[in-house]
This record gives sequence, structure tokens and C-alpha cells, in this order.
Amino acid sequence: MSRMIFSINQCSPVELRLLKALRALNWEGSWPAQAGFFLEEMGLSSSQAFVFADLVTAIIEADPGFYLLGPTSPFVSRDELNLLAALGNASRKSSNRLGQVTRSRVPVVKSLIDSCGTALRAGQISMKTRASLHNGRTLPSVASQVLPFQDDRTLRNVTVVSVHKPTPRVRRIVLGGHSLKTFVTDLAAQWVKIFLPGGTTQPVGRAFTIYSFDAINSQLTFDIALHDGGPMSDWALTAKPGDGLQLAGPRGGFKGVTPRSWLLMAADETGLPAVAAIVRLLPADLEVHVFAEVADESERQFLDTQPNVRVRWIYRNGTSSQEPETLSEVLRYSPLPATGGDAWIAAEASAIRSIRTQLLRDRGFELGRVQAAGYWKHGEQDHRDLAAG
Ligand SMILES: Cc1cc2nc3c(=O)[nH]c(=O)nc-3n(C[C@H](O)[C@H](O)[C@H](O)COP(=O)(O)OP(=O)(O)OC[C@H]3O[C@@H](n4cnc5c(N)ncnc54)[C@H](O)[C@@H]3O)c2cc1C
Repeated sequence: MSRMIFSINQCSPVELRLLKALRALNWEGSWPAQAGFFLEEMGLSSSQAFVFADLVTAIIEADPGFYLLGPTSPFVSRDELNLLAALGNASRKSSNRLGQVTRSRVPVVKSLIDSCGTALRAGQISMKTRASLHNGRTLPSVASQVLPFQDDRTLRNVTVVSVHKPTPRVRRIVLGGHSLKTFVTDLAAQWVKIFLPGGTTQPVGRAFTIYSFDAINSQLTFDIALHDGGPMSDWALTAKPGDGLQLAGPRGGFKGVTPRSWLLMAADETGLPAVAAIVRLLPADLEVHVFAEVADESERQFLDTQPNVRVRWIYRNGTSSQEPETLSEVLRYSPLPATGGDAWIAAEASAIRSIRTQLLRDRGFELGRVQAAGYWKHGEQDHRDLAAG
């Protein structure tokens, strides 16, 4: 199956915000709750926000195949572009061709689009004029990219092929299954959501980075850092070949390095699989400084690095000759190139906050060149950081 999706760059800033809110309304977890804030940020009142929620519900009911992507997807679907076109028309009070939005003419959708248009007008939100797209015809003068359809919400059934123990507190899990034949990963360090079998209860789902993907054998490998009191960590302790799981994604990933820059990477055990996946692919002449915090020396891992990559291991529990250290403190006192480079950081949320502040305030990094995400948070189950993409 293929569906038309395009680069999101063709959307205006206003369209991007509106699209994010519409997608959030249709998404899982805390996203619907955040949608109201996204709309309020655009200048709509919370009472006006309800009509957008009704619109999304009505569209999906009228046309279950309507293709709304995830809130942070870097692509936009043809259906979404048509919806934006219709909302723009409605906000200018121009005639609306309902057939461009849903495949069936449903009066309630038309009336809700008109109401949303009225809300946009009342909020003085000016929408871009855009043509509707039919049968894959692209907008003139707009660069677009047609990609194979891969819905990151599709749940794939997978089976554990093997379990390895690269260090005492990490389990490396290799997954296989027919469903991975259509799996595509196009950026290093993308992540997937892994779901434990739920039985009658709500399944537990957690984010894990793709350590590697073998497209020929359709096998995906990821690492779980063991810790106390987490269902996913508990599962990993007894995981064995043949265990069934479900997987959704991929999402996020490493966005690359600015030309003529250098790269700082910092991670704890949860970010290490991403570091491993990224350093494998970096150009040989790129200057890279990796700071990796693990519990102790036994948790040190092999990283397949180029000669220009310097790795500093930091031991949270210390060693016989060394006091305990933390990522943030070691980074603070380490010599680094004087000019701000690019940074990629993934670790516990409060460590991330401290490192991000340090890089921006004391090290001269530019905001847009620091990719930093809290991969977990002390005392919080299934912590979600939107920066993870
Ligand atoms: C984009 C992304 C990619 C990630 N990639 C990886 C990866 O490749 N490998 C990996 O191991 N993790 C990764 N993580 C982190 C992982 O999703 C979390 O650690 C997750 O919370 C573990 O689920 P759980 O069921 O074991 O614990 P939860 O039920 O989520 O949490 C239970 C308790 O354990 C604590 N906790 C959670 N994780 C840790 C930890 N690592 N150390 C100590 N205490 C913890 C929580 O604070 C909470 O108190 C990633 C997270 C994100 C957002």
C-alpha cells in the first residue's frame, strides 16, 4: 500500500501549529490533553478549541482511512493538506468543497469545518491559501517528496529471536518476525515503542532505541538497561527466544551535524544504544567527544568508533581509585573545542536539564544545534519528553 506524504516544510508556521493540534487530538497518551494548549498558543480560547476536537472525531468517523500522522511527524499527508486547505477557505469564508476533505460527503463535517473557520477568523488567525490535492497531484512550485507509506502507529507482532548480555546490567534483545519485512528505518538512533503482552489489562509500552536493524533477515536489535521496579526491565530479566511482543514506530532519530562542526555526545545507559548506532555512521574526519555515564567499569561497552572519536567513561559508583562521577559534572570541567558545535544528549531528565543549560549558557552552543532528550525521569513511569521526536 502507498499513500501520498510530503515534506512538512511546505506548511506555513500557522499551519504547522494547527496541524500539530489536530494530530494531537487524534493521538494517544497525553497528546489530546496538550492539544488545547497548542490551540490556545495560536490565540484560540479553550471554548473555541472544542469544535476542533469535534471536527477530528467527525472526520475519522466519516472516513476511518483519513490519514492524520503523529504530532511530531516530519511529513504531511495529502489528506492533511486538503484539511488545511478547507480550514483556510473556511477561515476566509470562501466556499468549501467538502469532498476534498473526506471521501464521503457528511454534512456534520462540513458544518464543523465552517465552525472551525469561524473560530480561526475570531482568533484573527490568518491561514495560507492553498489548493487541494487530488489523486497525488502536487502543489505547483512546492518541493515535495513521495515516500513509501509507513504508519508509525501500526502495531507489528514480533518474536524474541535471541537474548544477549553485553554487560551485567544490559540485555540485548533481537526481535524477528514477518511483520518486520516492511519495516524501514532511515535515520540512526530512531526509536520504537515496545509493548508487552497485556492479557486483559492495558499493555505496557516503552520507548527503546534501534541499536541495529538487519533488513535482509528482518531482525531488529535493541538494548534494555536493567533497573529496579520497571515492568519492561523486569520482563528483560527473564526474556527468552519465542516470547511475543508488539512494536510501533520508528520515530525520531539523529538529525545530523552542521557542516564543518564538531559533535558532543553525552548519554547514560539508556542513551548508549543511540550513541552506538550514531557513531557507527559518522564520517571518519568528524571530531566527536563522547561522554558515557554507566554504573561502574563492568558496564563499559564496545563502541565501534572512528579514530576522531574520543570516549570518556564516567562511573556513577566510582572505582577503587576514583570517586563517583556524574555526566553533568564531568562535562562541566572537561576541555572541549572553544566554538559551539552540535550536541546530542540522552539521559535522565534532570541531568539533561542541567547539561542543556550548561551548553547554552557556558559553552556557546546554539539552541537549534542541541538535540537533548530526557529518556527517563526519577520516580516517573514511562516518562515522555517531546524532544525525543
Ligand atoms: C526515545 C527514547 C529512547 C530510549 N531508548 C532506550 C534504550 O535504547 N534502552 C533503554 O534501556 N532505555 C531507553 N529509553 C528509556 C526507557 O524507555 C525508560 O527507561 C523506561 O522507563 C523503562 O521502562 P520500565 O517499564 O522498565 O520502567 P518504568 O515503568 O517506565 O519506570 C519505573 C521506575 O523506574 C525508573 N526508571 C526508568 N528507567 C530507569 C533507568 N534506566 N534507570 C533507573 N531507573 C529507571 C523510573 O523513574 C520509575 O521510577 C528510551 C527512552 C526514550 C524516550
